[in-house]
Amino acid sequence: MAKYALITGGSRGIGRAICLQLARSGYAILLNYRSNEEQALVTKQVVTDAGGHCELLPFDVANKTDVQSVLGEWIEVHPEDSLDILVNNAGVRKDNLMMFMPDEEWDEVLTTNLDSFFWVTKLVLGNMLVNRFGRIINIVSLSGVKGMPGQTNYSAAKAGLIGATKALAQEVARKGVTVNAVAPGFIKTDMTEELDEKALSVMIPARRFGQPEDVAHIVNFLASAEAGYITGEVINVNGGLYT
Ligand code: NDP
Repeated sequence: MAKYALITGGSRGIGRAICLQLARSGYAILLNYRSNEEQALVTKQVVTDAGGHCELLPFDVANKTDVQSVLGEWIEVHPEDSLDILVNNAGVRKDNLMMFMPDEEWDEVLTTNLDSFFWVTKLVLGNMLVNRFGRIINIVSLSGVKGMPGQTNYSAAKAGLIGATKALAQEVARKGVTVNAVAPGFIKTDMTEELDEKALSVMIPARRFGQPEDVAHIVNFLASAEAGYITGEVINVNGGLYT
């Protein structure tokens, strides 16, 4: 019987760093991604090189049928294994002023960042409750905490996820399952590649963008047994950049 951690969007960026940290903590890694197999294989190699075990499980978190068939089947054929850790990390942004935002940009961002939480978590939660142990960590954003102009869709999705985190935490606390959110500021990944780091760093007290590892370390702690009395929290990882 193996103890698994499922990381959605684990192929690149913050997700990759989380895969590595959780593997170092002894979890077998179930790595979800959408389409970038090349990068998913790089992450798998990184985990394997660190002595860990990593399985790729591609599915589109924004597609309910895909989530239920692919993840549902994995759970069905692994009755002896337990999915103890779920990191809802997969996310996209499609920035636009709301006046000019087409319906598709609203829908894609809400579905990928928020609906996915409901579909993926619902599949995994049952066994966590039966096992009386589980750690659910949702990667949100500074945008969901303070709201960002040009990101009404992304801010709404991440703020919604913060609300869901707090609500679910209270539903499942007595069963040994914790639910927390981690809210990064600017982190150096593909998602922030086109941003002007030098110009934006002026408003960050730490005067730099964060690294994926800055996020992964707190996720790793929240996933640990030692963090069992912390639930319903939103931990900011943003170099001091508040409202
Ligand atoms: P990246 O763009 O570097 O990576 C995104 C990851 O999500 C990839 O693994 C991608 O898979 C996966 N993904 C995207 N859409 C889907 C989908 N529909 N189904 C399955 N997987 C999907 O992002 P980051 O590492 O920067 O971001 C990770 C999380 O952190 C996101 O939730 C983001 O909103 C949040 N965040 C990031 C910040 C930053 O500054 N970078 C700041 C605040 C929050 P594939 O490789 O197949 O495309």
